[in-house]
Amino acid sequence: MDLNLTTDELQFRDELRAWLASNVPEEWDEVREESLEERFDFLKSWQRKLYEAGWAGISWPKEYGGRGASLMEQVIFWQEMAQAGAPPMANVLGLGIIGPTIIAFGTEAQKKRFLKKILSAEEIWCQGFSEPNAGSDLASLQTEARLDGTHYIVNGQKVWTSYGWAADWCELVVRTDPNVPKHKGLTVLMVEMKTPGVDVRPLRQMTGETEFNEVFFRDVRVPVENVVGKVNDGWDVAIGTLMHERGTFGAGLQIIYKRNMDRLIELARTLRRNGQPAAQDPLVRQKLAQCYAEIEIMRLNQMRAFSRISATGVPGPEGSIMKIFWSELNQRFQQIAQELLGPFGQLTSADSYAIDNGAWSYGYLRSRGNTIEAGTSEIQRNIIGHFVLGLPRSY
Ligand SMILES: Cc1cc2nc3c(=O)[nH]c(=O)nc-3n(C[C@H](O)[C@H](O)[C@H](O)COP(=O)(O)OP(=O)(O)OC[C@H]3O[C@@H](n4cnc5c(N)ncnc54)[C@H](O)[C@@H]3O)c2cc1C
Repeated sequence: MDLNLTTDELQFRDELRAWLASNVPEEWDEVREESLEERFDFLKSWQRKLYEAGWAGISWPKEYGGRGASLMEQVIFWQEMAQAGAPPMANVLGLGIIGPTIIAFGTEAQKKRFLKKILSAEEIWCQGFSEPNAGSDLASLQTEARLDGTHYIVNGQKVWTSYGWAADWCELVVRTDPNVPKHKGLTVLMVEMKTPGVDVRPLRQMTGETEFNEVFFRDVRVPVENVVGKVNDGWDVAIGTLMHERGTFGAGLQIIYKRNMDRLIELARTLRRNGQPAAQDPLVRQKLAQCYAEIEIMRLNQMRAFSRISATGVPGPEGSIMKIFWSELNQRFQQIAQELLGPFGQLTSADSYAIDNGAWSYGYLRSRGNTIEAGTSEIQRNIIGHFVLGLPRSY
């Protein structure tokens, strides 16, 4: 593994850094306070601006609107965005996991039809995998699609569908053959969310937001040309999507953690505990130092994983190591922040005494979902045990 950037990568980084320095919208801090929908519209315009300047889909092929650069440059892009404090792009799932799935498994016509609109945020995507009785055991899903001439007729229910409320399209995993072993009868369909029979309902999280949804499908007609990959081969396509979700999705996170860490250290120096700055308390110092070291370990682990993905072209099961690490580290970090900030850390943005506009209370509550989304920690450990370490499969 070589941790140094090449001359081309350094040039790319400097060009991007300069562009971000003069283009990152300053009003993001105020927009953060607005409703979910208003924030989302803002993020769509920001993504459009990045796309028009050639900064969306860094590693996607040029003919589909991308930049045709390397995966390493894609990673540099996420890192520089985080470093600059830039707002995220709106089409999180389209860019991070669904576009790469279409590139890997889609037909030429599908790539031409869908990829540019993902990059420009003209079409927002959601991921319809989990069901009320199929989360960790995804292959048990029951949403069915029955062939009727040139269309599939879809019936069933998905749950925890992030961005369902904003999405124009959904990557949907359905059962097309109920008479074969459960992994073998699945197919991936691209479903337009405004098709008659699709019903999206909000689910409120403990943060107070309705980031995800329940989505019901009743006799929804989906053209056969919207199958991704082969019929009944959907398990491979879905696993491809999940590998991206676990492998490269967290690329900018380490920088965000580092920025949060720097802010917490600043607060530890100014907030007083027992008559002295909290940073002088030996227990606080030990906890902060431990976290600082773990954020650095995360950076090194990510570099190792990205250099391996660059060599093979696709993320592998070792992406589960990163998934466990970033999710559990964030929970440890948010816990330490709460211990340090005391009751003030629990105040939300609605309270004038809230520190950093309630970001710490939001961060603590939202972090609980980290070890569940994109596959729970237990499932990641099973994957590492079996596919990375070669241990017997767990049932
Ligand atoms: C914030 C958030 C966003 C999400 N966004 C999406 C989305 O956009 N699209 C989507 O499809 N899904 C989404 N999900 C759903 C997520 O993928 C599932 O919640 C997750 O896969 C777990 O499934 P489950 O909730 O059904 O829990 P279950 O599978 O019922 O698991 C319950 C508990 O049992 C444990 N467990 C289960 N099986 C095993 C086993 N074999 N070995 C050891 N332990 C086991 C689990 O680790 C967990 O602790 C999201 C979830 C969250 C929290």
